[in-house]
Amino acid sequence: MFHLPPLPYDYNDLEPYIDEMTMHCHHDKHHRTYVDHLNESLKEFPKYENHTLTELIREQDHLPSKLRLSVVRNGGGHYNHSLFWKVLRPVATNANPDPNPKGALGHALERDFGSYENFQLQFVEKAKAHFGSGWAWLSADDRFDEKGSRQRKLLIHTTLEHETPLNRGLFPLFVVDLWEHAYYLHYQNRREEFLGALWNIVNWEEVAYRFTNGEKSLRNAA
Ligand code: MN
Repeated sequence: MFHLPPLPYDYNDLEPYIDEMTMHCHHDKHHRTYVDHLNESLKEFPKYENHTLTELIREQDHLPSKLRLSVVRNGGGHYNHSLFWKVLRPVATNANPDPNPKGALGHALERDFGSYENFQLQFVEKAKAHFGSGWAWLSADDRFDEKGSRQRKLLIHTTLEHETPLNRGLFPLFVVDLWEHAYYLHYQNRREEFLGALWNIVNWEEVAYRFTNGEKSLRNAA
């Protein structure tokens, strides 16, 4: 049985960048529906009732086809939205007026994209160019060199509908919802304006925590 996680802030806390009505509709209706539908489909498959969300998503190719479809749509929807709420935060709680991520994540962004500004530009370009519904991601792509030490490379990419990076072998750090329901009430078709506004409310501490702790942070994701 999965539960809709409460927002880690109030519905109007992300204003003026995301309006209160969008947050109510998006969290209480859209996200809730994915959780409800996922629970409904699991009733027929009690064998999987103790699986975690990430286990279901990672094992989706081995699930009975009816359950698989629900995990792809509703499980992915639940996972992605749970993460989306967590990587945002109200402006007021941002004690540091300089929004650039620091520390290991800041260094990795500079290493892989040249600078934080270049990362933002490339992220917006990818997100803007994505056709239809989906999600834009900053993910970690872990490779091991010949000495066996881990190289954690950063990757900007998008996924279709509710696909997660988990079943591509990537670890998601940051995500933006590109479905129109995420911005249409306030921004209508102006996806780029929505993307630009979001930089004001990114919870870089959470993203950096995920970057440093990787898999260990998964249990908190959804
Ligand atoms: Mn959404």
